[in-house]
Amino acid sequence: MPQIQPHLFVIFGATGDLTKRKLIPALYHLMQDEDVARRCVVLGAARSDWSDEQFRTSAQEALREKGYSEEAVSTWCTRNLFYQCLGDDGDDYAALGDRIDQLERHLDLPGNRAFYLSLPPSIYGPAVEGLGEAGLSESPGWTRVVVEKPFGYDLPSAKKLNETVHRHFDEDQVYRIDHYLGKETVQNLMAFRFGNAIFESLWNREHIERIEITVAEGLGVGGRGGYYDQSGHVRDMVQNHLTQLLTLVAMEPPSSMDANAIRQEKVKVLNAVQQPNPETDVVFGQYQSGTVEGESVSGYREEPDVPDDSTTETFAALRLNIPNWRWQGVPFYLRTGKRLPTKLTQIAVRFEGAPVSLFQTDGQPCIPQGADCEARSNELLITLQPDEGFDLRFEVKAPGDNGNGTMNLETQQLSFSYQDAFGPVPDAYETLLRDIIVGDPTLFVRGDEVEASWQLYSPLLDAERPVHPYAAGTWGPEAVDRLLSNWTSGARERVPQRAAEGA
Ligand code: NDP
Repeated sequence: MPQIQPHLFVIFGATGDLTKRKLIPALYHLMQDEDVARRCVVLGAARSDWSDEQFRTSAQEALREKGYSEEAVSTWCTRNLFYQCLGDDGDDYAALGDRIDQLERHLDLPGNRAFYLSLPPSIYGPAVEGLGEAGLSESPGWTRVVVEKPFGYDLPSAKKLNETVHRHFDEDQVYRIDHYLGKETVQNLMAFRFGNAIFESLWNREHIERIEITVAEGLGVGGRGGYYDQSGHVRDMVQNHLTQLLTLVAMEPPSSMDANAIRQEKVKVLNAVQQPNPETDVVFGQYQSGTVEGESVSGYREEPDVPDDSTTETFAALRLNIPNWRWQGVPFYLRTGKRLPTKLTQIAVRFEGAPVSLFQTDGQPCIPQGADCEARSNELLITLQPDEGFDLRFEVKAPGDNGNGTMNLETQQLSFSYQDAFGPVPDAYETLLRDIIVGDPTLFVRGDEVEASWQLYSPLLDAERPVHPYAAGTWGPEAVDRLLSNWTSGARERVPQRAAEGA
């Protein structure tokens, strides 16, 4: 594994929520090695007129909540954290440059710098301009710029932001975050597909009937109503997280594990997906009041900062087709929403059923197209959260006979639990921050990839579309049955494990 080199990690938006909840804990955890910690320094920047001391206090609060030792945290914060007030003015960026030079000289750092933009999305462009014009896109060591999600609001704005970024930075200096890619279980999708030949040989139109990707949240919009109402669920979840999962499930094997080889295959999938037809391939919904996990919750339009006539979607279900050699004719169903029954990220692969059913018939083989003849399909459920792991469902003979001399089949499953095998998995941000620092762009979204995914959903962003109400705590509006009525993922209980008799 490449080693962490001494560097300066500059966080724009250092007074914000993401810095406190995710970035500081991830950086602290990464720097547990004393040799690394001594020469890796964090410089926070934001408009608030904070001192170094105020930034350290804020970080200490965040780390205290994670249960780290007070003494070690205090030492790290005092030695490693600094703060620079930064407004929109060019002079502010020049002053930032001076502070960086001063810290690097004082702490004997070699000029390796990461600039992490944890800012409101409208400020990404101006911040990149500010860095470039102050001469901060180059340094005596390496220089990287990290852009949080969302990268753009639609295709034109993503292109414009890419142009701005590329005016000052080369593509290999740019790290576009989609934190889903930092999750161990998302990376494990590649290990699962390309490390296990038994599945790869079935992973195509010959053997797969359909694939479902569900990303469900029990939460509503909380305090983000104002931002969310301008964005909606396609922008907030589909264009980035669900699309990343889609590409990992549908891509061809890369020629190597090199970042560009992998990203090349992901872009090829995106270019092959047909744009969905807003009238026939998409159902939008908006949550109303209801009950989620036993708690009564209000409807979307009653949330703070949401207009009471809002038509923003909080749920989207889509059918996508990928008309290439591997996937022609296999529908991919994407479903995601807020205030669904539970938090769940799951990919369900439903294999083709047996061509002829020999069981639970009147004794004669039957062709499973008739109403009374069923050949249940095998299913593979890949759960990314909350219980990370796999379940492979198959049919077994239930003990005994069913009274008329024929066999009863029952669905059972083989299960693998990530937690049972490996214990707690690292936080996605820790993985991503390490990769930024060591210079591995594999888990970041390339410029052409982000444009291809905005291009795919362009017809949905501007289309006049009905937004169907659904009660909080349900799996979305009834209209979703129009796309698919019997979802495998989430909607069904896990298969109960039979206790072996006498055990
Ligand atoms: P916050 O609103 O909590 O923080 C925004 C930060 O940006 C503050 O430090 C603010 O500080 C600073 N800021 C605001 N306006 C300006 C400006 N004009 N110039 C310079 N600095 C400014 O946002 P979050 O921390 O929640 O999110 C940051 C980014 O990360 C967003 O793009 C968000 O989409 C993304 N993100 C956040 C997640 C989260 O869990 N919070 C998850 C995934 C992505 P000050 O006012 O002092 O300048």
